[in-house]
Amino acid sequence: MESGGKSSKDKVVAVVGGGLVGALNACYFARRGFQVEVFESRDDIREAKIVRGRSINLALSHRGRQALSRVGMEEKIVSKGIPMHSRMIHSLNGKQSPIPYGKKGQVTVCVMCRNAGLAERYPNAKMNFDHKLWLWSPTHVLLLWLEGRPDGSAQSLQADLIVGCDGAFSTIRKQFLRRSRFNFSQTYIPHGYLELTMPPVAGEFAMKPNYLHIWPRNTFMMIALPNLDKTFTCTLFMPFDEFEKITTGDDVMEFFQEYFPDAIPLIGVEALKTDYFRLPAQAMVSIKCSPYHINDKCVLMGDSAHAVVPFYGQGMNAGFEDCIVFDEIMDQCNEDFSAVLPEYTRVRVPDDHTIADLAMYNYVEMRAHVNSKWFLFRKKVDDI
Ligand code: FAD
Repeated sequence: MESGGKSSKDKVVAVVGGGLVGALNACYFARRGFQVEVFESRDDIREAKIVRGRSINLALSHRGRQALSRVGMEEKIVSKGIPMHSRMIHSLNGKQSPIPYGKKGQVTVCVMCRNAGLAERYPNAKMNFDHKLWLWSPTHVLLLWLEGRPDGSAQSLQADLIVGCDGAFSTIRKQFLRRSRFNFSQTYIPHGYLELTMPPVAGEFAMKPNYLHIWPRNTFMMIALPNLDKTFTCTLFMPFDEFEKITTGDDVMEFFQEYFPDAIPLIGVEALKTDYFRLPAQAMVSIKCSPYHINDKCVLMGDSAHAVVPFYGQGMNAGFEDCIVFDEIMDQCNEDFSAVLPEYTRVRVPDDHTIADLAMYNYVEMRAHVNSKWFLFRKKVDDI
C-alpha cells in the first residue's frame, strides 16, 4: 500500500522490545511488507535456560489466540502449550476441588513466552538482540541510539514509525512524559510475587497437569501452571511485609507448613529452603496512560501502554489484542500513520483501561473470595 509518497516496503518500522508483544507486532508489520527492525535488550531468550525474575509460562486465552491466528501462529504456539480446562482449588486440609472454566470445551492454554523469533520467518523482519535503546527523539529525524552491542558502541537508525513494546518500564514512554497533555498513572500494589519450581515425580507431573492450581489463603495466594518439561511453575503472591518476615530456611518451612502443607513434598524441602531465597520477591504495578501515540511517529503497545496486575491473566492477551486492533485500523486508514495512530488511541485506550480495572478488581476477589461462596457463584456464571 502507498501512503505519504512511500510504499510500505520502503518504510522502516522500528519495534523496540522483542518480548511477547514486540515479537508478534513485528509479524503484523512484516506481513504488510514494511522493513521491520526489532531491538531487544536481552539475549535471544530461546537460547536461555533461565529467564531471570520473569514468569515463563502464561495463560493464553481467547483474545490472545485470535491475535496469533491472524498471523498464522496460533497452532504453532498452542501445540507447544498445555490446555487447562479447569482451576483446581487446594484447601488447607489438602482437599482438591476442580472448577471448570466457562462453557464446556472452553480452555485456557498455558504457553511458554519464548516466542522472540516469531518474526524471523519474514525476510523483511530482523531481530537485533543485545540492543538496548537508551535515547530517542520524536522531533526532527527519528533516531534510535542503541547500546549493548558486543563492542560497546552505539548505533542510530532513522525509522518511519517507532513502536514501543518495551514493557512496563518503557524507555520509549519517557519521551511521552515530557510532553504536554500526556496522562500517566502508576500504582504499585502491596503484594509481590516469587516463583518456585515443582519438579516431576518419576518423570511425570507431580499434580494433574490440565489445571490452573490455586491455593487461596485470603491475603496470600499460590498458583501453579504446568510446563512442557513436566514441571510446574508455582507463583506465591504475598504482601511485601510478609515476605520480609521470612528470613531463614526454617521460616520458609514453618510458613509452608501453616499455609501450603500439601505443596511441601511436591516442591521438596531442600528446594523450598534454597529456591525461596534465589531471587527477591518482584513488585507488581498497574500503569495507565493516554494518548498512546506521538503524531504519526510513535505508538505504545503492550505493557508499555498498559501494564496490569496479573490477577486477571490478561496482560499478554490484551497486548496481543493491541496488535490485532492496530492492524484493523491500518486497513481502515489505508496505512496512513497520521490517521491510524490517533484512531488507535481513540479506540484502544478505554478498553485497555477497563482491563486494568478488572485486573485490579480480581486482585481483591481472587485472594479473599476464591474459596468462598463467590467462587460457587462465579462457577454458575461461567456455566451460563
Ligand atoms: P514484556 O514482556 O515486558 O517485554 C518487553 C521487552 O522489551 C523485554 O523483552 C525487554 O527486555 C525489552 N526492553 C525493555 N527495555 C528495552 C530497551 N530500552 N531497549 C530494548 N529492549 C527493551 N499475562 C497473561 O496474558 N496471562 C498470564 O497468565 C499472565 N501471567 C502473569 C504472571 C505474572 C507473575 C506477571 C508479572 C505477569 C503476567 N502476565 C500475564 C502479564 C504478561 O507477562 C505481560 O502483560 C506481558 O509480558 C507484556 O508483554 P510485553 O511484550 O508488552 O512486555
